[in-house]
Amino acid sequence: MLYHSTRSTERSVDAAQAILSGLAPDGGLYMMDCLPALNLSDLMHQSIFGVAGTILSALLPSIDNMDQLIQQAYIHKFSAPDLTPTRAVGPFSVLELFHGPTSAFKDVALCMLPQLISAARQQKGTKETILILTATSGDTGKAALAGFQDVPGIEICVFYPYGGVSAVQRAQMVTQAGRNVKVCAVRGNFDDAQTGVKQIFAVDNRDHLFEKKGVCLSSANSINIGRLAPQVVYYFKAYQDLLLTGRIALGDTVNFSVPTGNFGDILAGYLAKRMGLPVGQLICASNANNVLTDFIRTGCYDRRRPLLKTQSPSMDILVSSNLERLLYLLSDGDTQLIASLMAQLAADGYYQISDILLKKLQAEFWAGCCDDAAALQTISEVWQTDHYVCDPHTAVAWNTARQYQKFIGDHRPMVVLSTASPYKFPSAVLSSIAPKTVANTDEFAQMEALSALTGTKIPPALAALRSLPERHLDVIDPAAMLRYVLD
Ligand SMILES: *Cc1c(COP(=O)(O)O)cnc(C)c1O
Repeated sequence: MLYHSTRSTERSVDAAQAILSGLAPDGGLYMMDCLPALNLSDLMHQSIFGVAGTILSALLPSIDNMDQLIQQAYIHKFSAPDLTPTRAVGPFSVLELFHGPTSAFKDVALCMLPQLISAARQQKGTKETILILTATSGDTGKAALAGFQDVPGIEICVFYPYGGVSAVQRAQMVTQAGRNVKVCAVRGNFDDAQTGVKQIFAVDNRDHLFEKKGVCLSSANSINIGRLAPQVVYYFKAYQDLLLTGRIALGDTVNFSVPTGNFGDILAGYLAKRMGLPVGQLICASNANNVLTDFIRTGCYDRRRPLLKTQSPSMDILVSSNLERLLYLLSDGDTQLIASLMAQLAADGYYQISDILLKKLQAEFWAGCCDDAAALQTISEVWQTDHYVCDPHTAVAWNTARQYQKFIGDHRPMVVLSTASPYKFPSAVLSSIAPKTVANTDEFAQMEALSALTGTKIPPALAALRSLPERHLDVIDPAAMLRYVLD
């Protein structure tokens, strides 16, 4: 199986090369030329490590020793032995993706990506240092820093929007240790940071500029296929959990509600479906930045609107990169169409897809959104009714799942993806559960209050942040990003 750009089939590369490059040279995203089909009932008898091995070997066939890489990625890094447990909570099953080292779902992929890049680098005999450039809306940055810290042959530079991440998220990043790491704030929002990174990748004489320094660029954002592939695994794992606890029978279809930003997480669910998992509807849940809700309902993708700051900052995004991969799949690989839609988005800020394509999209995806007030209300209700503490991103998915069931009347089993520990957003969560306790406390005091109130434990790595020194205090304008990286 080979990979090529979503915007042209001219050049094919193997999985190792696609992982090393991150983005295709024409600005498109790497996609596989066909999707492997898996045997569902075989997978249902395997451990999480077996499931991961089967899926990742199928998606990334040119990477050797996959089982060993998976062990190295996950053993002793997650606080749950099965990595991503599913819990029955009230009417839904909650797939908890936040038991990794930085308490966000991005750990699942970003523990694995450094292993994949190192393996690809060795297999290709790459002499250059790999420089990972990443823009973050809050969670990717820390998960990538933790994953790549002191990995030989790799350096990492993370850009985050100045003032655009939570206090805990900022503390996680600016306290990061490691010889090969750099963290910098950008004056602007996440889209400015992401656009800045994409522009560095697209600089005309980029290879020449960086080769002189013995460096080649790659990305830890979900534009990298090595980031996306590990996320397919937990959809199968959730299905297995439902099966083993008698909530479904083999072959039953299951709906998934996914709190969505860059469209990586939910796209992995669609890949799982195409690979044989009985997925019903994929619910695309957005916060007040509801570009995707409008798109899935009308077929018009329109980014011409202000980006709003919300209590679910990891979803504060107007340009969802991985949607390009979905459109590629739904249009049966029409690279010309994808290239023209993306050119229009870049030039005019919007595009409209055909009715035929929209019908295909709506057959697989349903979209809904909720604002901060509704999400915080949901946190409070889920706590009061089901005694479960969820973070604001998970609350958006929960709220949207309820809207879906109410409007559509589809009551097949629903899995809500829980993407962050509530302790990453203690202010929002505490103010929902116990409105009176929040006044005048910092986020670390709020963590303790939340723990005392709910009887849940603060993840040790988050509690420890308070006493760590701040190491990375640079703040720059978006226009200065290339210079910063070269220096
Ligand atoms: C990144 C993130 C999301 C959005 O995931 P995408 O793959 O970008 O759609 C949702 N919730 C949390 C907590 C995240 O960190």
